[in-house]
Amino acid sequence: MNIHEYQGKELLREYGVAVPNGKVAFSADEAVEAAKELGSAVSVVKAQIHAGGRGKAGGVKIAKSLDEVRTYAEELLGKTLVTHQTGPEGKEVKRLFIEEGSDIQSEYYVGLVMDRASSRVVMMASEEGGTEIEEVAEKTPEKIFREYIDPAVGMQPYQARRLAFNINIPKDLLKQAVKFMLGLYNVYMEKDCSVAEINPLVTTGDGSVMALDAKLNFDSNALYRQKDILEYRDLDEEDPKEIEASKFDLSYIALDGNIGCMVNGAGLAMSTMDIIKYYNGDPANFLDVGGGATAEKVTEAFKIILEDDQVKGIYVNIFGGIMKCDVIAEGVVEATKQIGLEIPLVVRLEGTNVETGKQILEESGLNITAADSMADGAQKIVSQVQ
Ligand code: ADP
Ligand code: MG
Repeated sequence: MNIHEYQGKELLREYGVAVPNGKVAFSADEAVEAAKELGSAVSVVKAQIHAGGRGKAGGVKIAKSLDEVRTYAEELLGKTLVTHQTGPEGKEVKRLFIEEGSDIQSEYYVGLVMDRASSRVVMMASEEGGTEIEEVAEKTPEKIFREYIDPAVGMQPYQARRLAFNINIPKDLLKQAVKFMLGLYNVYMEKDCSVAEINPLVTTGDGSVMALDAKLNFDSNALYRQKDILEYRDLDEEDPKEIEASKFDLSYIALDGNIGCMVNGAGLAMSTMDIIKYYNGDPANFLDVGGGATAEKVTEAFKIILEDDQVKGIYVNIFGGIMKCDVIAEGVVEATKQIGLEIPLVVRLEGTNVETGKQILEESGLNITAADSMADGAQKIVSQVQ
C-alpha cells in the first residue's frame, strides 16, 4: 500500500527523522491559510499523488508570496498530472502539501528496500540525489553505496556513518545524517515498509539534514497489524477495480492490455499471462480466484473483468484441483446473466468436476469457444480480439 508524501513525513517526524514544516490542504483557501501559519518567506506547493516525478511534471511549485501560493494551488488542484510514474493517463491532484521552502545546499538519495538475493534489508545511498535513481544505477552505478543489514542486530551506527561518509555528507553534519538513517531504518522495520525512499535528502544552508521528499510503501500482508497505517489509505489513488476485488478477497491486479484473465492459482495466472504475451496478446489483468472460491466469489471476479471497458475478450483458464470446475462455470454463467456478455470468451477447463463444468457452460447458451489446452486457448483468444 502506498501513502502520500505528507503522510510519510508525518511518520518520519515521529521517528526523529527531520522534515520541513508543512501542512496538507484540500483547497486554495486552505493552502493560503497553511502558508500563512507556516510563516516562511518561501513556501513550496506540492501536488500529492501516489507517484514520483512530480517536480519535472510541474507538480512542485516554489511560491514567494501568499498570492503565488493561491495561484499555484488553484492551478494544481483538479489538474491531471502526468509523470513518468503515473502512466499516460496521469493522476488528478486532489490534495496539496504546503511546505516551508528549504535553502538546499546539496541533494542526496537514501532508500531502503528488501534485497531478495541476500534476503536482507539494504540501505542504498548516493550523492546523486534529486535525479532518478534508476538513471544513476544505469550510468554511474559506482555512485550508489549499499549497506546490508543483519536482521539479528538491526542497522548499526557504523553502517550509517560509512554510508554518510561515502556519499560525502559534510563532516559537521555526519552525526545528523547518522541519526536520520537510523530513524529511517526504524520506520521501515516497525511499520512493515516494503520501500522507504528519500529523494532528495538535503543538507541546508543553516546546517541541517532533512527529508525533502518521502516515498513509503507498505507490505499489504502486514496491514492487519498496522492499523494506523491503514488509516492513511487513499482510495482515490487506487484502481476502483482493485478496490472492488479486495472486498471479495480476490488477488486482482489491473494491467494495460485487453484480454481479461480468470485463472486459479497464482502460478497458473502468471503463466497464463506469459502465454498470452507469447502469442502477441496483452493481458488486461492478473487474477487468481484462489482455491476455495465460492460461486459468488467467482461471479464477482468475472463481473470485475466484464465491467472493464478495456477488455475485448476473456480467457478463463482453470485447472480444477481444490477449486472445482463446476463452481467456476456457475460463476461465469451467473455473472453474464447479470451483466451480459458481448465479447469473445474462451474457456479451458481441466480437473475436478470438469464434465459438470462443461455441461453447465454448454447449457447456458453462451457463445463460448472451448479450448483443448492452455496454449490453444491463448491462441484462440488472441486471434478473436484482433
Ligand atoms: P518528486 O520526486 O515527485 O519530483 P520532490 O518532493 O522530490 O518531488 O520535489 C522535487 C524537487 O523539488 C526536489 O528535488 C527539490 O529540489 C524541490 N523541493 C521539494 N520540496 C522542497 C522544499 N520544501 N523546499 C525547497 N525545494 C523543494
Ligand atoms: Mg523526489
